[in-house]
Amino acid sequence: MRWETVIGLEVHTELSTESKIFCGCTTAFGGEPNTHVCPVCAGMPGTLPILNRAVVERALRAGLALNCKITQNCKFDRKSYFYPDLPKAYQVSQLYAPICRGGHMEIEVNGEKKIIGIRQIHMEEDAGKLVHDPKSGGTLMDYNRGGIPLLEIVSQPDFRSGAEVIAYLEKLRETLLYLGVSDCKMQEGSLRADVNLSVRPIGGEMGVRTEMKNLNSFKAIGRAIEYESARQIEILENGGYVIQETRRWDDDAGESYGMRSKENAQDYRYFPEPDLLPIEISDEWLDSVRESLPELAHRKRERYMRDYGLSGHEVSVLTGHKNISDLFEDISKQSRNPLESARLVTGEIMRLLNVTNTLPEELSPDGRKLAVLVELLSARKINRNAYKEAVEAVFTDNAEPEAYIAQKGLMMLSDDNAVSEAAGAVLADNPDAAADYRAGKEKAFGFLMGQTMRKLGKAGDPDTVKKILKEMLDNQEGA
Ligand code: ADP
Ligand code: MG
Ligand code: ZN
Repeated sequence: MRWETVIGLEVHTELSTESKIFCGCTTAFGGEPNTHVCPVCAGMPGTLPILNRAVVERALRAGLALNCKITQNCKFDRKSYFYPDLPKAYQVSQLYAPICRGGHMEIEVNGEKKIIGIRQIHMEEDAGKLVHDPKSGGTLMDYNRGGIPLLEIVSQPDFRSGAEVIAYLEKLRETLLYLGVSDCKMQEGSLRADVNLSVRPIGGEMGVRTEMKNLNSFKAIGRAIEYESARQIEILENGGYVIQETRRWDDDAGESYGMRSKENAQDYRYFPEPDLLPIEISDEWLDSVRESLPELAHRKRERYMRDYGLSGHEVSVLTGHKNISDLFEDISKQSRNPLESARLVTGEIMRLLNVTNTLPEELSPDGRKLAVLVELLSARKINRNAYKEAVEAVFTDNAEPEAYIAQKGLMMLSDDNAVSEAAGAVLADNPDAAADYRAGKEKAFGFLMGQTMRKLGKAGDPDTVKKILKEMLDNQEGA
């Protein structure tokens, strides 16, 4: 029998709002335990939630970018469950009227495009964190994370492989970053994916699924999918049944184990949240959000290829992070030289990020200053070596480009006299090389050229040097 893996994802993303969803507490990551809390997010009886408008705004941005239909009359529901990370014993979430429904996203795996359906996106609050205390052997509670706004993005069971899942998560992450919806740091838990997986004979009826949690990296997700798919196939091939349950992935052990049998909606006794009014999303609000959406990475990639003829590799480097594409567009616009700007960002800037261990999110060079350098290079006022040196000075020390070039004497000498003088000296010092060149050895020219450039230092203009050197050699011919 040949088996097929069927996967659906539930992605939770913490929103990058300043404050929590129902109170004014900060959403900053970390902090001393229980310092980012107030009576509302600590679940004290008698407190009332006030919805943060920025949460709805971000949900709309995500929903529109993911081609969803927006529920303009939406509301919150209470999901009751008892667990120490949730002091109220209920989570405010959305079941009956989630804010977004019926979207989709296109992914590409090995050159093949595929549409992944998005069933819904809903808003909810995050829970606190259980912290194991090695001293007492007990478990402590940190409620700093409680009440941080979340979007849960639920896909259709449209994935057939780990590679498709990773491609989707990468594109989703890129989209949410471009939208400014979340910082999507998996290591800080601001992007978390639960993997629902079942197997079936190819094209057959849907099988019973399990849900895997605690997947902290794309790599762990890939491994967990492989493991779970093999585990289910083995059970079925041996005539057994897969039990619908929640399983916890242990990345160190490379295996998952059952945590609890899967609950269904009835177990949570959902009911409309009585402390919050329904949300009315006007056409005007929706239109203004739609108009404010930025151009997304995949659109930028298409545009850069079409308008500038850049390669697939170049455009993916340029759109790898929004700060990178912003910098590229800034330099490009100010220098009116997109090709040289692309070369600068994909070359020197990426190299400098690398050697200085700088993350794209920390990228801060002044686009104007870099544009000045691109212009000087294209106007042949500085040569490429001088350009690279000045780019580095702007990148690391925020140097003023013109002042730096003047101070270091990098302005190119297109003064023919100075070049002739240097070339003449080189020819006089190297009569053998000159004779070799005249005898037809092209290599000798490269040597003479190098020597002359060296004499002129960083201010040498290779084209002028070439021209003058050639002239001098030809004139001296037969002399
Ligand atoms: P629940 O309400 O229990 O969370 P949902 O029906 O909302 O379950 O589905 C949760 C996720 O599981 C969705 O991403 C969905 O695509 C996926 N899913 C549902 N059934 C299956 C299945 N048989 N195999 C794999 N994934 C599934
Ligand atoms: Mg669910
Ligand atoms: Zn609070």
